[in-house]
Amino acid sequence: MSQLRQLFKSVFTAALPKSLLLTHGPRRRTRGIDIPRSPCEIALTFDDGPHPEHTPRLLDLLADAGARATFFVVGERAEQHPGLIRRIADEGHELGNHTWTHSEPSQTSAARFLEEVAQTRRLIQDLASHDCRLTRPPKGALTIRKALGLWRQQQTVALWNVDPKDFSMLDTAAMSQWLGGYRPQSGDIVLLHDNHPRTAVAVEQLVENHALRFVTLSDWLHPTQRVSEEIVAGTLRVPSDDLEPLRMINDLSNTDGTRSVPATTQLEVADAR
Ligand SMILES: [Zn+2]
Repeated sequence: MSQLRQLFKSVFTAALPKSLLLTHGPRRRTRGIDIPRSPCEIALTFDDGPHPEHTPRLLDLLADAGARATFFVVGERAEQHPGLIRRIADEGHELGNHTWTHSEPSQTSAARFLEEVAQTRRLIQDLASHDCRLTRPPKGALTIRKALGLWRQQQTVALWNVDPKDFSMLDTAAMSQWLGGYRPQSGDIVLLHDNHPRTAVAVEQLVENHALRFVTLSDWLHPTQRVSEEIVAGTLRVPSDDLEPLRMINDLSNTDGTRSVPATTQLEVADAR
């Protein structure tokens, strides 16, 4: 990731409330010091499924461990495997939206992207009676126009802060090596893929760690948190101080003391599949 992209990511992560952009959960720290014996809560997230072979295996592992997770499903794959969508919901996991076709972000207009999200949301509602309020864009890539459209649909953009890149691992040794170096912190959102054979190795080993508690992403979002009326109305407007870092990138000043994010600004917020 280029330095500019890293700057964009850090700026937006810091500036936006979690109801709009979630990149990690609460860190359980007080004045910079970890609270002793506080349970370490992390969120496992699975993208690109459901997959007829790998998703059931993961669900079995999670059930055996009493662990919950969040599945960002692709609408057209969910339509092919409706029983898996119902099983995910019935077993206490959360369903998230990963668009209808997982189309390449750079080739997808904001209008098409938003329609894919809406179509997938309707399917999840029909299959699992679940009003899906979390969206993870393919590759984590968004433009401001797409982000504003998601917020108008009252969607939280859900990204991640831990990425083992399971999709590129050629054998289980690579996953074991990553796991050996991973030091979980409360609030971690781990990006995994339930259409990939190596992912089960990660889950198998992580759920054996009894110091960890596995939560869904909505467990970290207060139920009263809602996308603000101003955003639903069409413009991101937050107090100037909250967007102060954006001055480094662009002149976003308005005359009334607030700042708006221009809809034409390109924002690549992440660097993954
Ligand atoms: Zn994906």
